[in-house]
Amino acid sequence: MSRLVLATRNPGKIAELRRILADAGLPVTLVGLDDFPEIGEIAETGLTFAENALIKAHAVARGSGLPAIADDSGLCVDALNGMPGVFSARWSGRHGDDAANLDLLLAQIGDVPEGRRGGHFACAAALALPSGQERVVEGALEGVIIDAPRGSGGFGYDPIFVPKGETRTTAELSPAEKDAISHRGRAFRALAPVVGELVTTA
Ligand code: IMP
Repeated sequence: MSRLVLATRNPGKIAELRRILADAGLPVTLVGLDDFPEIGEIAETGLTFAENALIKAHAVARGSGLPAIADDSGLCVDALNGMPGVFSARWSGRHGDDAANLDLLLAQIGDVPEGRRGGHFACAAALALPSGQERVVEGALEGVIIDAPRGSGGFGYDPIFVPKGETRTTAELSPAEKDAISHRGRAFRALAPVVGELVTTA
């Protein structure tokens, strides 16, 4: 079994990628950053999701000596020229303050009429090997931003995002329903064959 590190301390993300790699029939053992306490915070200094995912994957591959996967994601709002984008987690100024980020975004697009409130969640997933070899793939989920939060599932901007073809927000979907269509699910599923190619044959 090849060991592979996912650059996260979020058990939900590790479980989701484990399921996807197992569904793809890949003989790999996925561990998270809790197995590598010596790897500290990695600054997301890139200006694109792909750049940030690659920065994190390379840092973890170097720090662990193992192939590493990292993802970076966010919400891109058409009326804001694609912002908050890579700044989604720190849009209100404080990293990870989901409620403040969501409130600020709603205030910013308050005057944007229905029909012009399109946007998408985007995710880049990168694989880096200790040798420096790298690959990056992307996934997206198109939808609209509504004007008031609905639902208690998910995180971040989920309560104000309704995927195309849905009436519910992503905060009203079950975790399995969200994984099946989400930007992250799509990016991770696109990365599985790359893992098969570069890791299990390495
Ligand atoms: P990260 O890629 O885990 O750093 O996430 C970046 C930020 O994008 C999160 O803090 C959320 O604000 C937003 N985001 C990314 N994916 C989602 C999602 O699936 N639902 C809601 N918000 C998301």
